[in-house]
Amino acid sequence: MSTTCLNTIPFNRTHISDNELGYLAEAVREGSTCGDGPFTRRASTLLTEMTGSDHALLTTSCTHALEMSAILLDLQPGDEVIMPSFTFMSTANAYALRGAVPVFVDCRPDTLNIDEQLVEAAITDRTRAIVVVHYAGVACTMEPISELCARYALALVEDNAHGLGGSYRGRPLGSFGRIAAQSFHATKNAQCGEGGALLLNDADLIGRAEIIREKGTDRGRFFRGQVDRYRWIDIGSSYLPSDILAAQLTAQLESFDKIQFLRHAVWQEYHERLADWAAENGVSQPMVPDGCAHPAHLYYLLLPDLGNRQAFIGHLSERGVQAAFHYQPLHSAPAGVRYGRVAPGGCPVTEEIADRLVRIPLYPDLNETDMARVIDAVQTYRVS
Ligand SMILES: *Cc1c(COP(=O)(O)O)cnc(C)c1O
Repeated sequence: MSTTCLNTIPFNRTHISDNELGYLAEAVREGSTCGDGPFTRRASTLLTEMTGSDHALLTTSCTHALEMSAILLDLQPGDEVIMPSFTFMSTANAYALRGAVPVFVDCRPDTLNIDEQLVEAAITDRTRAIVVVHYAGVACTMEPISELCARYALALVEDNAHGLGGSYRGRPLGSFGRIAAQSFHATKNAQCGEGGALLLNDADLIGRAEIIREKGTDRGRFFRGQVDRYRWIDIGSSYLPSDILAAQLTAQLESFDKIQFLRHAVWQEYHERLADWAAENGVSQPMVPDGCAHPAHLYYLLLPDLGNRQAFIGHLSERGVQAAFHYQPLHSAPAGVRYGRVAPGGCPVTEEIADRLVRIPLYPDLNETDMARVIDAVQTYRVS
């Protein structure tokens, strides 16, 4: 191996879109630095167009959008919320904060999404909502889940942190849930460092969502001239981001097609060029079912076992390629045990794939040379 001090290829690198620096300067120059300024309006409109959602409210994070969903659904202590164990802790934390109980369901071994066939067995008379996470932006199998929500009168929430730009049978992700949460964290497809959005597909929720987001006040109505002063109306918090962040996000959303083109090129290159190596070594590549258009959010490989996964990360690191594992099961995490419960049958698939999964660098500006280096580093690993 030649170790000629190659720069490490990072797991992620943020992309600067065409108007980004200009919009940031404009927001600062115009003094529109607090929330709900002109860039917030622009970014919100773009989001409704991209997701086909009725209404979008920018938030300080996806975590906060999920917290807002828990308040909006009036969850009470002891209410149950069904969700996958294989997800980011914010999915569960947002509901546990309201005293609700996350009920963790296992994932499918092919898409790593919540196993729709296991959801019904997790429903009790305390169940109030089902939260789906479209892992890697590949849609969950929505028909049976939507059908269960209708039959048991449960709210459907999409944690769509990975799914912006993805669709299921032609319909954009983020438009299926009564509520959906987006993330614009630095690692997501469109980013402003720390940010998110609450998408509402039920007009009845809009008025109260605005109040919850503005410290429990009707400040939004006041600024629209609908009330002559604003007052404390409901519980809430300060969930609106600075217009400076909205300026950065606006530029990113305007460049979304370009970002997506670049991300898909990397994803596709990995998928084709690693296929033989994967087959020879018993490694699984991502599976995208018919009807799912995914947004190339991440590229993962499933090594045969934990030992190989760890050795593989070490092998890549020695060749200057930063790779990362992903979610650790929530049902067996300390807070998952304390605040949640596991659905009947446990989560054996989640436990297994969490140990085997590794993500390799995928970002818009990953150039040909670095992509070739990643592919070469992967292909020189032999599963033992
Ligand atoms: C990134 C992520 C979040 C949290 O997003 P923030 O904007 O950082 O709060 C929540 N859920 C999933 C599935 C995520 O990937």
